Amino acid sequence: MTSKLSCRYGVDAVSVDFEKLGVPYCPHGPTILFERFYSGQKSRSFYACAVHRDKRYCPFFYWADEVTEEKQIRSKAEFESKRPHLNRQQLLRSLEATKESAFSVRRYCHTCERLVLKSDTQQHEGHHVKEGVFDKELSHPTSILTPLDNRKSQAQYYFSTSTVEFLVSELRRLSYSRVLCVGAPRLHEALLQNDDITSMLLDIDHRYAQFYSQESYQCANMFNGFFYEEEGSQICQRFLQSCVEEPIALVIDPPFGALATVLAHGVKKLWAMAGKELPTVLVFPYFMESHITLALPSFKMLDYQVTYDNHQHFKAHMQKHGGSKPSAVRIFTNLPPPGLVLPKEEGYSFCSICKRFVSSYNKHCPKCNSCPSKDGRLYVHCNKCSTCVKPGLVHCVKCGTCKPLVHPACGVTEVVGCHICGAMDHKRRDCPNKDTKLTTKKQKRASLETTATSKKKKAKH
Ligand code: SAH
Ligand code: ZN
Ligand code: ZN
Ligand code: ZN
Repeated sequence: MTSKLSCRYGVDAVSVDFEKLGVPYCPHGPTILFERFYSGQKSRSFYACAVHRDKRYCPFFYWADEVTEEKQIRSKAEFESKRPHLNRQQLLRSLEATKESAFSVRRYCHTCERLVLKSDTQQHEGHHVKEGVFDKELSHPTSILTPLDNRKSQAQYYFSTSTVEFLVSELRRLSYSRVLCVGAPRLHEALLQNDDITSMLLDIDHRYAQFYSQESYQCANMFNGFFYEEEGSQICQRFLQSCVEEPIALVIDPPFGALATVLAHGVKKLWAMAGKELPTVLVFPYFMESHITLALPSFKMLDYQVTYDNHQHFKAHMQKHGGSKPSAVRIFTNLPPPGLVLPKEEGYSFCSICKRFVSSYNKHCPKCNSCPSKDGRLYVHCNKCSTCVKPGLVHCVKCGTCKPLVHPACGVTEVVGCHICGAMDHKRRDCPNKDTKLTTKKQKRASLETTATSKKKKAKH
């Protein structure tokens, strides 16, 4: 059996439909049916958690052919018995009470994940309590709630101000009067500040329930469209079906660990609730482009770099100051052209040949006849490959493609040629850059990368 498992070469989602007969439940709700493929053997289907991909957070696993009716019924009953019950009326009342109280007596208990008043604090002794809550914080809960980061599949990264402003202004310019924000709490709270837009949030983080009415927030799993509250699905459907009279858009910022196929199933389920394919904005990393466009063929990737406040690699200010690589996160959308207009102030411009907006580093290559950059950096045309490649790569004769100087796959485990600048035509002792004394490993590597792409520039040193 183990040898069979080691031959496995892929997993795909088959169905997220939990209304189908026989779908077992894990503690996080109805599970998803996956199929595991093996080379040279028949594939086998199994049910696994629809929220967590990591076994550490939900070890649930049933082979589909081993699920019995009894197992299914038992699993569902167990989920129902432990299902967190949100008393929305009570939550709304305590929100009202908080709003009517003065700043100085408002509290947020991080331990209980609840808004409380000073008079209740005896019950919260020893808890992590935030004292004093501004009106602005009540209407912007992402400014109070600590982002979840411990669970990979639920990590929360809030949009930077510039990304929120860009999305809000574009949605307004395109006259969407309704927006369904899926996994996008910060966008939701910003949209609510606009009188001409009605926004609804779907998110699996139930902490939002205490800040919004049932019409404004529902706890749901975006991968299978499962709503944790009885009336949730109906409320959302009503919201979506008004698309007949009012233009409505969907904005989704899922966890990046999601399988593209699962994500697509979830998106289509929301479209089905609306009765048609809705204009949708999906936020996902550029390197998943082929997976996303395969699963959602009407989607195109835009050059816009989505930035975040609390993400180590995708922070806005780091990029403005040239501190790190550009954000890898992009917008995928089925909005009909001309669609979103990318902000000039942030360096985006319209390429009249490609007929699309591109970032300032994405220069049109006449040989490729396209603006080739995917990762936001200036690509370099390689005549041997007849295509543009990422900066820092060099053409490897052995591989016949452009690769990093060091690429073990081809046996190149160390830099041959010059150890200072990476050029192949001389050794370290003859390097024109010998005196620049690059000491640290990092500096050396940086130097190698720049040399490989722009030798001319380097020669000036
Ligand atoms: N950038 C967004 C937040 C994205 S973080 C913003 O600033 O508004 C991803 C969000 O998706 C989190 O809020 C998380 O709670 C939610 N989430 C994670 N898994 C989910 C799931 N399966 N269904 C619904 N929401 C989910
Ligand atoms: Zn408490
Ligand atoms: Zn090119
Ligand atoms: Zn090689």
